[in-house]
Amino acid sequence: MHLNPYGEDAVNLAADLANRRPGDAAELADRCRTAGLVLERPVTPGDLELTLAVLDAWEKVVDAGDDQERAGLLNRMLAAASAYPRLTDHTGGGWHLHYRGDRQPLGPVLSSLISVGTALHLAGRGMHRLRRCAVDECTMIFADTTRTGRQRYCSHPCANRDAVRRHRARTRDTGRAARSRALPADSGHQQQP
Ligand SMILES: [Zn+2]
Ligand SMILES: [Zn+2]
Repeated sequence: MHLNPYGEDAVNLAADLANRRPGDAAELADRCRTAGLVLERPVTPGDLELTLAVLDAWEKVVDAGDDQERAGLLNRMLAAASAYPRLTDHTGGGWHLHYRGDRQPLGPVLSSLISVGTALHLAGRGMHRLRRCAVDECTMIFADTTRTGRQRYCSHPCANRDAVRRHRARTRDTGRAARSRALPADSGHQQQP
Protein backbone atom coordinates (compact mmCIF):
# COMPACT_ATOMS: atom_id res chain seq x y z
CA MET A 1 0.00 0.00 0.00
CA HIS A 2 1.25 3.43 -0.89
CA LEU A 3 0.04 6.12 1.45
CA ASN A 4 -2.09 8.37 -0.72
CA PRO A 5 -1.93 12.06 0.21
CA TYR A 6 -5.31 11.82 1.92
CA GLY A 7 -4.55 8.80 4.08
CA GLU A 8 -7.80 7.15 3.03
CA ASP A 9 -6.56 3.56 2.57
CA ALA A 10 -4.57 3.58 5.79
CA VAL A 11 -7.39 4.96 7.94
CA ASN A 12 -9.84 2.46 6.40
CA LEU A 13 -7.44 -0.39 7.13
CA ALA A 14 -7.16 0.79 10.75
CA ALA A 15 -10.97 0.84 11.08
CA ASP A 16 -11.24 -2.63 9.55
CA LEU A 17 -8.62 -4.09 11.91
CA ALA A 18 -10.09 -2.33 14.97
CA ASN A 19 -13.66 -3.36 14.19
CA ARG A 20 -12.69 -7.00 13.77
CA ARG A 21 -9.39 -7.67 15.55
CA PRO A 22 -7.18 -10.25 13.81
CA GLY A 23 -6.86 -13.46 15.87
CA ASP A 24 -3.33 -14.43 14.84
CA ALA A 25 -0.32 -13.31 12.80
CA ALA A 26 -1.45 -15.22 9.69
CA GLU A 27 -4.85 -13.49 9.69
CA LEU A 28 -3.19 -10.10 10.20
CA ALA A 29 -0.93 -10.80 7.20
CA ASP A 30 -3.87 -11.90 5.01
CA ARG A 31 -5.98 -8.89 5.83
CA CYS A 32 -3.13 -6.44 5.22
CA ARG A 33 -2.37 -8.14 1.90
CA THR A 34 -6.05 -7.90 0.93
CA ALA A 35 -5.93 -4.17 1.75
CA GLY A 36 -3.08 -3.80 -0.75
CA LEU A 37 -0.06 -3.83 1.55
CA VAL A 38 3.10 -5.42 0.16
CA LEU A 39 4.59 -7.58 2.92
CA GLU A 40 8.34 -7.69 2.67
CA ARG A 41 8.99 -9.93 5.66
CA PRO A 42 7.32 -12.85 7.45
CA VAL A 43 4.68 -11.69 9.95
CA THR A 44 5.31 -12.75 13.55
CA PRO A 45 3.27 -12.86 16.80
CA GLY A 46 5.33 -9.80 17.84
CA ASP A 47 3.90 -7.89 14.87
CA LEU A 48 0.38 -8.83 15.97
CA GLU A 49 1.10 -7.74 19.55
CA LEU A 50 2.39 -4.33 18.43
CA THR A 51 -0.52 -3.92 16.01
CA LEU A 52 -3.09 -4.61 18.76
CA ALA A 53 -1.41 -2.03 21.02
CA VAL A 54 -1.46 0.49 18.14
CA LEU A 55 -5.18 -0.23 17.59
CA ASP A 56 -5.88 0.32 21.32
CA ALA A 57 -4.20 3.73 21.12
CA TRP A 58 -6.00 4.47 17.85
CA GLU A 59 -9.43 3.72 19.38
CA LYS A 60 -8.68 6.37 22.02
CA VAL A 61 -8.12 8.81 19.15
CA VAL A 62 -11.51 7.76 17.71
CA ASP A 63 -13.24 8.26 21.07
CA ALA A 64 -11.52 11.56 21.96
CA GLY A 65 -13.90 14.19 23.37
CA ASP A 66 -12.71 17.11 21.25
CA ASP A 67 -10.21 18.11 18.55
CA GLN A 68 -7.48 19.12 21.02
CA GLU A 69 -7.59 15.78 22.78
CA ARG A 70 -7.76 13.95 19.45
CA ALA A 71 -4.71 15.81 18.13
CA GLY A 72 -2.78 15.24 21.35
CA LEU A 73 -3.42 11.49 21.35
CA LEU A 74 -2.58 11.16 17.66
CA ASN A 75 0.60 13.23 18.09
CA ARG A 76 1.68 10.73 20.74
CA MET A 77 1.15 7.89 18.26
CA LEU A 78 3.12 9.79 15.60
CA ALA A 79 5.96 10.35 18.04
CA ALA A 80 6.09 6.62 18.84
CA ALA A 81 6.08 5.68 15.13
CA SER A 82 8.52 8.42 14.27
CA ALA A 83 10.93 8.09 11.33
CA TYR A 84 11.92 10.70 8.79
CA PRO A 85 9.95 10.58 5.51
CA ARG A 86 11.82 9.23 2.50
CA LEU A 87 11.27 8.69 -1.21
CA THR A 88 11.20 5.08 -2.32
CA ASP A 89 10.49 2.99 -5.40
CA HIS A 90 10.69 -0.37 -3.62
CA THR A 91 8.01 -2.04 -5.75
CA GLY A 92 9.17 -0.51 -9.02
CA GLY A 93 5.67 0.91 -9.37
CA GLY A 94 6.59 4.57 -8.97
CA TRP A 95 8.25 6.89 -6.53
CA HIS A 96 6.31 7.66 -3.37
CA LEU A 97 6.82 8.67 0.24
CA HIS A 98 7.35 6.27 3.12
CA TYR A 99 7.17 7.53 6.69
CA ARG A 100 9.31 4.66 7.90
CA GLY A 101 12.60 2.89 7.34
CA ASP A 102 13.10 0.28 4.62
CA ARG A 103 12.38 -3.40 5.21
CA GLN A 104 10.60 -2.96 8.55
CA PRO A 105 8.54 -5.76 10.09
CA LEU A 106 4.75 -5.40 9.70
CA GLY A 107 4.18 -4.16 13.28
CA PRO A 108 6.27 -0.98 12.88
CA VAL A 109 4.96 -0.56 9.30
CA LEU A 110 1.36 -0.50 10.57
CA SER A 111 2.27 1.75 13.47
CA SER A 112 3.61 4.31 10.99
CA LEU A 113 0.96 3.77 8.33
CA ILE A 114 -1.98 4.06 10.75
CA SER A 115 -0.74 7.13 12.62
CA VAL A 116 0.45 9.07 9.54
CA GLY A 117 -2.58 7.97 7.47
CA THR A 118 -5.01 9.05 10.19
CA ALA A 119 -3.22 12.40 10.61
CA LEU A 120 -3.39 13.03 6.84
CA HIS A 121 -7.07 12.06 6.77
CA LEU A 122 -8.02 14.37 9.67
CA ALA A 123 -5.86 17.29 8.54
CA GLY A 124 -6.98 16.94 4.90
CA ARG A 125 -10.69 16.28 5.34
CA GLY A 126 -11.60 17.52 8.81
CA MET A 127 -10.86 16.63 12.42
CA HIS A 128 -14.37 15.27 13.00
CA ARG A 129 -14.25 12.69 10.24
CA LEU A 130 -13.51 9.67 12.39
CA ARG A 131 -16.19 8.22 14.63
CA ARG A 132 -18.34 5.34 15.78
CA CYS A 133 -21.71 4.51 14.25
CA ALA A 134 -24.62 6.66 15.52
CA VAL A 135 -26.71 3.54 16.30
CA ASP A 136 -26.31 3.13 20.08
CA GLU A 137 -25.74 -0.61 20.15
CA CYS A 138 -23.36 -0.55 17.16
CA THR A 139 -19.73 0.15 18.04
CA MET A 140 -18.31 0.05 14.50
CA ILE A 141 -15.73 2.72 13.66
CA PHE A 142 -15.58 4.42 10.27
CA ALA A 143 -13.59 7.17 8.57
CA ASP A 144 -15.93 9.64 6.89
CA THR A 145 -14.67 10.20 3.34
CA THR A 146 -17.99 11.42 1.96
CA ARG A 147 -18.18 14.71 0.06
CA THR A 148 -20.35 16.42 2.69
CA GLY A 149 -18.58 14.99 5.76
CA ARG A 150 -21.85 14.21 7.51
CA GLN A 151 -21.81 10.41 7.53
CA ARG A 152 -23.41 9.13 10.76
CA TYR A 153 -23.69 5.38 10.25
CA CYS A 154 -21.18 2.63 9.60
CA SER A 155 -23.35 0.99 6.92
CA HIS A 156 -26.64 1.08 5.02
CA PRO A 157 -28.28 -1.50 7.33
CA CYS A 158 -27.51 0.70 10.37
CA ALA A 159 -28.82 3.83 8.61
CA ASN A 160 -32.03 1.98 7.69
CA ARG A 161 -32.43 0.54 11.18
CA ASP A 162 -32.20 4.00 12.71
CA ALA A 163 -34.57 5.53 10.14
CA VAL A 164 -37.21 2.90 10.99
CA ARG A 165 -36.70 3.52 14.70
CA ARG A 166 -37.01 7.30 14.33
CA HIS A 167 -40.15 6.86 12.23
CA ARG A 168 -41.72 4.64 14.93
CA ALA A 169 -40.81 7.12 17.66
CA ARG A 170 -42.42 9.91 15.64
CA THR A 171 -45.67 7.94 15.10
CA ARG A 172 -45.74 7.09 18.81
CA ASP A 173 -45.32 10.77 19.75
CA THR A 174 -48.03 11.87 17.31
CA GLY A 175 -50.39 9.24 18.78
CA ARG A 176 -49.63 10.40 22.32
CA ALA A 177 -50.18 14.06 21.39
CA ALA A 178 -53.54 13.20 19.80
CA ARG A 179 -54.63 11.26 22.92
CA SER A 180 -53.64 14.07 25.31
CA ARG A 181 -55.57 16.61 23.21
CA ALA A 182 -58.70 14.44 23.68
CA LEU A 183 -58.44 14.67 27.50
CA PRO A 184 -59.85 17.59 29.56
CA ALA A 185 -57.36 20.43 29.83
CA ASP A 186 -56.84 20.11 33.61
CA SER A 187 -56.68 16.32 33.77
CA GLY A 188 -53.01 16.48 34.66
CA HIS A 189 -53.73 18.36 37.86
CA GLN A 190 -56.42 16.13 39.29
CA GLN A 191 -55.53 14.41 42.56
CA GLN A 192 -55.79 10.66 42.50
CA PRO A 193 -58.10 9.32 45.26
ZN1 LIG B 1 5.53 1.79 -0.60
ZN1 LIG C 1 -23.47 0.64 12.65
